[in-house]
Amino acid sequence: NAGSALHLAKQAGQGNIRFFSHDLTEQARRRRTLEEGLHRALEREEFFLCYQPQLDLHGGATVGMEALIRWRGPDGQLVAPMEFIPLAEQTGQILAIGQWVLRQACRQGRAWHDAGFSTLQMAVNLSPCQFLQDNLPQLLDQVLLETGFPAHCLELEITEGVLMHDPVRAARMLAVLREMGVGFSVDDFGTGYSSLAYLKRFQLDRLKIDRSFVRDCCHDRQDGAIVDAIISLARNLGLDVIAEGVETASQLDFLRAQGCGLVQGYLFSPPLPASEVTGWLTSSIAARGPV
Ligand code: C2E
Ligand code: MG
Ligand code: MG
Ligand code: MG
Repeated sequence: NAGSALHLAKQAGQGNIRFFSHDLTEQARRRRTLEEGLHRALEREEFFLCYQPQLDLHGGATVGMEALIRWRGPDGQLVAPMEFIPLAEQTGQILAIGQWVLRQACRQGRAWHDAGFSTLQMAVNLSPCQFLQDNLPQLLDQVLLETGFPAHCLELEITEGVLMHDPVRAARMLAVLREMGVGFSVDDFGTGYSSLAYLKRFQLDRLKIDRSFVRDCCHDRQDGAIVDAIISLARNLGLDVIAEGVETASQLDFLRAQGCGLVQGYLFSPPLPASEVTGWLTSSIAARGPV
């Protein structure tokens, strides 16, 4: 198995005895292929964004979209972000990719504003190294200026880990970006450090309840209690709360009963290609009747 093969490979140390299981060579090969592919992906324009609607539970309106990156590799196959984002973080390519995402999401957001959906929020995921880049404020400033997307409609999603890695630096970065008008969500909330004291220290706007808690919230008492607690916590701290990964009507009922204001998930819509978003926004307004 892969574990013992790794063990043997480690024992062999720097020597020339190598023993890899089939699995490991496969993995290593896959990794190398992806890494090489990533190098050219930007210039070959192989990335695109999909957008997942975020709904307000009170009126049912779509209030925002989360931009999610997609990569169609040279062989035409889609590669999941969970596979290539960590790799891009290791190789540093995430900075160029993240910059492209930011610019593309803001450009698209501006186009939808111009099409009449002028309050639509755009949520963009920031990788840890992006958030800790000293020139992030300049980059953001430039992107907002260039695209004309209003800062107060942009919401950056970061994880707890990013905040905790270097709290002083993170707080400083948050302050600078918030001064520009940008909002912040804590993505996958509850799965990281969960040091609640820090919620007070950082100026945040929104907690995103991780979908691992949402999944079983109505069947598993503990998950239900965690979801409930995050919602109360957010409310008491004056933060918005959004549940991600909502797939069923019973999850929705549970969330509604606990007072969760915002939702996102397959129950409403998968991430959509840009070409389908105007249609979605139009019919979501029609479904609610005149505003
Ligand atoms: P995330 O930011 O927590 O995004 C939510 C993920 O859950 C997305 O997966 C989305 O497609 C998926 N999802 C949404 N609704 C449901 C649902 O009802 N059920 C289930 N099972 N899944 C649902 P995706 O697009 O594969 O992205 C995975 C992760 O990759 C993201 O998690 C985020 O951490 C990262 N990622 C995606 N796009 C970007 C990006 O542009 N930049 C960075 N740095 N990371 C990104
Ligand atoms: Mg996210
Ligand atoms: Mg905001
Ligand atoms: Mg998440």
